[in-house]
Amino acid sequence: MLGADPNLNTILQIAIGFLSAFAISLYLSLVIWTFRDIRSRTRDVFAQLLATLLVVVLNFAGLLLYLILRPKETLTQAYERALEEEALLRDVEERLTCPSCRAPIEKDFMICPECQTRLRRKCTKCGRLLDLRWTTCPYCVTDVQAPLSRRDESLPRPEMEPQR
Ligand SMILES: [Zn+2]
Ligand SMILES: [Zn+2]
Repeated sequence: MLGADPNLNTILQIAIGFLSAFAISLYLSLVIWTFRDIRSRTRDVFAQLLATLLVVVLNFAGLLLYLILRPKETLTQAYERALEEEALLRDVEERLTCPSCRAPIEKDFMICPECQTRLRRKCTKCGRLLDLRWTTCPYCVTDVQAPLSRRDESLPRPEMEPQR
């Protein structure tokens, strides 16, 4: 009996049991959390294994090291950033320029304001702006005249129009 109260002994044993169970759960949770976290940050199996082992072996110290060394972005964040960069790049590429003088133009310009090059023409029926190469209006399916070269009638010149 070693002089200890048997009741106290039982309580102590239960308390120790709970504490150990809690410690083991905490330990396992840390390992599982680390494994999940590293898996969301890299596809490299070796890095995943290393990070998890770090926490398995060193526990809290390992977790601290892992938090310092882990990749900054999750794969999802990296993917989203890549998408954003791509969209930004596309924006820059889509900025329209005049094909002959490279001046910036708007999508609905009919001529280049700098060099007067013809950029678009109006549909004879619905009046919407058409690409010079199109021979049919895609909006109202009207045949428009044969494609004009960009230098042709760069500006309307009524006095030079042949009279029929
Ligand atoms: Zn131009
Ligand atoms: Zn049309």
